[in-house]
Amino acid sequence: MKYISTRHAADRVSFLEAVERGLAVDQGLYVPESWPLIQPGEITDHSFIGIAQKILSPFLRDELTAHELHSLLKSAYDFQIPLRYLKNDTAVLELFHGPTAAFKDIAARFLARFMNLKISEQRTILVATSGDTGGAVASAFDEFKKFRAVVLFPRNGVSPLQRQQLTCWSDNVLSLEVNGSFDDCQRLVKTILGDAQVREQFGLASKFRFTSANSINIGRLLPQMIYHSAAAIWYQQKTGHAPGLIIPTGNLGDAVAAFWARKIGMPIREITIATNANTTLSNFYRTGRYEPRPSIRTLANAMDVGAPSNFERLSDLHPDVHELKKISSAVSVLDDEIRHAIRHGKADWGEIWCPHTATAAVARERMKTPHWIIVSTAHPAKFSEIVNPLIGGEIEMPPNLAQLFERPSRSTPVDATIDSVADALLGKTSH
Ligand SMILES: *Cc1c(COP(=O)(O)O)cnc(C)c1O
Repeated sequence: MKYISTRHAADRVSFLEAVERGLAVDQGLYVPESWPLIQPGEITDHSFIGIAQKILSPFLRDELTAHELHSLLKSAYDFQIPLRYLKNDTAVLELFHGPTAAFKDIAARFLARFMNLKISEQRTILVATSGDTGGAVASAFDEFKKFRAVVLFPRNGVSPLQRQQLTCWSDNVLSLEVNGSFDDCQRLVKTILGDAQVREQFGLASKFRFTSANSINIGRLLPQMIYHSAAAIWYQQKTGHAPGLIIPTGNLGDAVAAFWARKIGMPIREITIATNANTTLSNFYRTGRYEPRPSIRTLANAMDVGAPSNFERLSDLHPDVHELKKISSAVSVLDDEIRHAIRHGKADWGEIWCPHTATAAVARERMKTPHWIIVSTAHPAKFSEIVNPLIGGEIEMPPNLAQLFERPSRSTPVDATIDSVADALLGKTSH
């Protein structure tokens, strides 16, 4: 399988090259050049790893042997990814049992292992984060010492829990606490990754080879197909019905992976994109016009995105909005509704929702058709400062999160300038 750019003006490349480049030279996003069709009946082993192997092998056949893929999957997914059945033909897919308690662990762990297998020299993995991504990437690369993960986060933009999971890793993770906003962090990362002249000027070019691990990297998209596929197969097996998936959405990475899973023949009836008060996608479904706008802050902050970076992949797959609307929809959920869903989650569903998953729970309640899977993207304890007052109690910390708090925290303060970040990268700044 080769990978091509959504803008069709760049070379076809291998998966490894697509991972290493991040963005194609024409500034488009990498997508598979063709879509193998997999009949669910062909999948005989319905374990998570069995399904993962079957789904990913056509995409990675040229680069990993069946045995390599199998060992990679077994080592990456040594935690549970359960589908739990609730009432009213509804199930919840829990993607938060990995080391940092959000679904981003699942893709980050795949990416780290793939790179470890295929790249023998050192690499510097650079990522800007406003929350869950940085922790998942740091955690995933922590054990692979030939890589250095560099995480930039805004000093005043993360909760104490988020801060801990960005800063509690080994020496090969450099956590840079930027005196600025998330946008500053993103700008710094983009400049260093994208501007060879800047890398030269600040003495970075000869020392490091950089790779990005942000949500447009195909190495993060592809593995997200696994759990959507597994959940749909399991649900259909148990109930006899193909489910719809409701996916809490920000940059549209997780949802695009679900469209891809549907494209290769997985029994996904339809897809609902649940967003918060950032309405770019729900407006697009309503008007047919894509009009990105600045993001606004909501309770579901990992979804505070006004210009979803994977939109280009969605419109590449489904250029015709009318066709897209036959198989999917988008809903926007306001903070008051998120609060209401968390407050009543226990009584209504027997669940404590995280603020992101709460948007999907609200969307489920609006649906008139049966058979839906709510995709749960984070453990509610990650957002206890929001959740506790609403449930009128203290949510229990799961063991994966509790473990992170036993580790010492370490970070390097930097200014929001290339100069300051370069000094930290070169080891000229003290911790
Ligand atoms: C990142 C994130 C999302 C949004 O996922 P996208 O792939 O960006 O759409 C939703 N929920 C949580 C908890 C997240 O961390």
